[in-house]
Amino acid sequence: MKNAPAILVIYTGGTIGMIQNPETGALQPFNFDSVYEQIPVLENLDYNIDFYSFDPLIDSSDMHPEFWIHLAGLIEEKYESYDGFVVLHGSDTMAYTASALSFMLENLNKPVIFTGSQLPLGVIRTDGRENFINSIEIAAASKDNTPVIPEVAIYFENRLFRANRTSKLNAENFNAFYSGNYPALAEVGVHVKYNYNYIGKPNFKKLIVHKELDYNVGILKLFPGISKNTVEAILNTNGLKALILETFGAGNAPTNKWFIELLEQAIKKGLIIYNVTQCKEGSVEIGKYETSVDLGRIGVIGGNDITTESAITKLMYLLGSGFDSEAISRLLQTDLRGEITI
Ligand code: ASP
Repeated sequence: MKNAPAILVIYTGGTIGMIQNPETGALQPFNFDSVYEQIPVLENLDYNIDFYSFDPLIDSSDMHPEFWIHLAGLIEEKYESYDGFVVLHGSDTMAYTASALSFMLENLNKPVIFTGSQLPLGVIRTDGRENFINSIEIAAASKDNTPVIPEVAIYFENRLFRANRTSKLNAENFNAFYSGNYPALAEVGVHVKYNYNYIGKPNFKKLIVHKELDYNVGILKLFPGISKNTVEAILNTNGLKALILETFGAGNAPTNKWFIELLEQAIKKGLIIYNVTQCKEGSVEIGKYETSVDLGRIGVIGGNDITTESAITKLMYLLGSGFDSEAISRLLQTDLRGEITI
């Protein structure tokens, strides 16, 4: 089709690309050469669609930053040849991969739409067919010759979210994803309704792909009764450069002397500690309560309303890019890709 939007579908694995083996009944990945048999309606779309399958295909629980580097490299290589990209990915770690890609793809001016499903395409009741077709429509959508979604996003059920604002929230419902601190970029019903005020604006600059990630990072989720041994063990992790402290409410933590002193010593030795709330909505506000005043005093960095998925991948990107700790501290509190409300 001449002049039809060109879309590259990248299949990484996950439930969406599975069919039931007719003999054993077990789920197995299907070869995308037969995708038109699974979704015949694809042939009726006025788009030029190409497919790229990773080998091996993986359950997204086996996802790894090295895979993100391949994925970002593939998008870089194909960037000029396509108008948009659809990435089929297992839902379990989709929010991590999509967040990572949002940081790795600087000056992205084309849609990179992640989707997957709770039921495989080969199952009659699958949610994968709608997710897949709507994602292709969104990846192909343009207005005044400019893509409508010039950013990395996740489409699931009937909503499109900014990737680095999204978490998986439900292992059962088709409505598996959630973006508590940022509105949906689009809602799909009879019409696709784009929420233009919240969609990123293209900057028409050249794509820069960051392929250095440093994953010497960790997460310490607080809970009432957390022991000194546990905190010490994680702070003494060999090679650890940055730690997300998953705090209560608006960024609060126990006020025990031993706890604050351990964190303070670690920060003095160069560890970056980033305060991210365990809440799915709302923001860290260091100093709002007595229970976060000390964190601010010793140099813990506030993560505002960032998701954990976004925070951990942002740290990998910043550390991998070789910024010094002062710059990292500043950039963690800067909105780089729409991931944080400042
Ligand atoms: N375990 C699967 C995965 O994340 C689940 C899914 O595809 O939704 O790869």
